[in-house]
Amino acid sequence: MECKYSNSENIIKKGKNKKGVQRFYFYCKDCHSYFLEKYEKNRYPNDLKKIAIRLYTDGVEIAVINRSLEIPYETVRSWIRVEGERAIKKIEARKKGR
Ligand SMILES: [Zn+2]
Repeated sequence: MECKYSNSENIIKKGKNKKGVQRFYFYCKDCHSYFLEKYEKNRYPNDLKKIAIRLYTDGVEIAVINRSLEIPYETVRSWIRVEGERAIKKIEARKKGR
């Protein structure tokens, strides 16, 4: 198991969040990222992903999305990196078309 952002193996497994809810994720001591195990990557419903991206394209900060939807910051960021950029390009293309 290595960090999916820095490929570092200097990671620790965390099992519970502050509320004591069971959640398995990892913390990278090198780049200070949190990420989920591979098989848990798709445990969030697609709708939640859409909502997160929608919020972001509406101008909501990632930190706010992360707190309000209780999705790890790095997960939100990785969704936005892929889907959000595509969405932003679409919005910009639409604006130009007018
Ligand atoms: Zn890392």
